[in-house]
Amino acid sequence: MLNERPVIEVRHARKSYGAVEVLRDVSLKVRKGEIVAIIGPSGSGKSTLLRAINNLDPLTGGEVWLEDTQVNEALPPRRYEAHINRVRQDIGMVFQHFNLFPHLSVRGNITLAPMMLKGIGRKEADELAEQQLARVGLSDRVDFMPSQLSGGQKQRVAIARALAMKPKVMLFDEATSALDPELVEEVNLVMKQLAEEHMTMIIVTHEMGFAQDVCDRVLFMDRGLVVEQGPPDVVFRQPRHERTRAFLRKHL
Ligand code: ADP
Ligand code: MG
Repeated sequence: MLNERPVIEVRHARKSYGAVEVLRDVSLKVRKGEIVAIIGPSGSGKSTLLRAINNLDPLTGGEVWLEDTQVNEALPPRRYEAHINRVRQDIGMVFQHFNLFPHLSVRGNITLAPMMLKGIGRKEADELAEQQLARVGLSDRVDFMPSQLSGGQKQRVAIARALAMKPKVMLFDEATSALDPELVEEVNLVMKQLAEEHMTMIIVTHEMGFAQDVCDRVLFMDRGLVVEQGPPDVVFRQPRHERTRAFLRKHL
């Protein structure tokens, strides 16, 4: 559908910490099924932008939309809480450091939010956990504790946990950068599989090869600005801006 609203739209995002402007007029549209990579030097504002999308780190200016809901709408506190809980159910997020609950089993980690936030019963939540674990290739780990898993397995559980909420979009913030090199591929494979299933995704990554293979569009950020964006072949092979070229010389 041509006129379908983007799943995520960021309009003129600005963010300052004190006098420091971390995002300076960033706009972004992500359509259903689209996979967007965000690359750029450390400190360029990539994580700040992702965190602004579910209002974990509210913008100082601009708007964030999830379909036809303004995520960062100014609301009185009582209404805001219900609003943001609803929004966050639709936005799955996977961080660099697997934030699994250490005292809960894999099953407990995955079933908690669907049971608490969606009111799903234990049996249905268990089935959901099993389905999502199968998707990330960890069906045999359902009764393990996080401490019994490798880093790659933990990150795959974190992905399964996010998927269990049936989100409209998945945000990944350097999901593989804390992993030992031999564990990166298993997580990348899960993300590739989601891409093949046309999951809408925004992926902050320092792995240029992965971005090139998996993403429909690449955004290069530097110092709080989107310097350039386009299909991976264009951005990686014929970057138009000197800042993009300088970054790619170091990272390709
Ligand atoms: P990236 O993810 O691209 O490495 P970040 O979004 O984490 O960049 O950070 C962008 C800039 O914002 C950096 O200069 C960082 O130091 C600053 N920053 C991030 N979070 C905070 C914070 N909570 N307080 C002050 N400055 C911050
Ligand atoms: Mg970051």
